[in-house]
Amino acid sequence: MRVSLAARLVREIGGFLCTNPAKVSWPGGVVSFTFDDFPRSAWVNGGAILEKYDRRGTYYTTMGFAGTANNLGPMFELDDLRAAHRRGHEIACHTYTHRDCGRATPAEIAAEIDENAAALSAALDGAPITNFAYPFGGVSLSAKSALNRRFASCRGTGRGINHGTVDLADLPSTSIYSRNFDRDRFCQLIEDAQASDGWVIFYTHDVADDPSPFGCTPAQFQSIVAYAAENAPVLPVRDVLAGLGLASAPADSSLRAA
Ligand SMILES: [Zn+2]
Repeated sequence: MRVSLAARLVREIGGFLCTNPAKVSWPGGVVSFTFDDFPRSAWVNGGAILEKYDRRGTYYTTMGFAGTANNLGPMFELDDLRAAHRRGHEIACHTYTHRDCGRATPAEIAAEIDENAAALSAALDGAPITNFAYPFGGVSLSAKSALNRRFASCRGTGRGINHGTVDLADLPSTSIYSRNFDRDRFCQLIEDAQASDGWVIFYTHDVADDPSPFGCTPAQFQSIVAYAAENAPVLPVRDVLAGLGLASAPADSSLRAA
């Protein structure tokens, strides 16, 4: 009991330590829309909404879910993945089996990432995958240190705007979920980013008329995309980092050897 409490404490504290500090200052603010796991509806509905405004998003893809279905509905098929990539959306990493990195060893995380990278590379002809999101938002100090060496950024689920000094190993983001959808709050976040030269990252899962508790409806999603597109640049995570000069992961492959 004491051991697990200590382990939990290390995990909690680790999540708060900044492991890859960087400056974010985007004059006038910038917004990213991201999807976790890659439910098929995030592409068919969510991608179509972004493209209606000629914008692109980031899909944090769990390759082990390809062609399956779960509580988020049908997941992506490989043709969906290729189409999203071809049309300029960013395909990013989210572990192969949706494992919680906050509860995995560095070696286990490395195996997950290697398997996901191999599957993505095979599907996308070796296209570079440079960004990552933590499944369940689960982080620990060792997970952050390990993943930070492999990716230009790792997105968490702690709320907030990225501005000033941020931790590229655990970027805050805001969920767009049907169950607590609050358009005014989301629009206010965008306005706050504009005022602070900051970066708002939104995430959701399925985008469906009858969404899971972790998704939203197309109408809800569109209302936020429309507001963002009117007021600020809307770019994939990859493109924001490139604009900030932060697109490169540290040249360190030690995660593979961990
Ligand atoms: Zn996920």
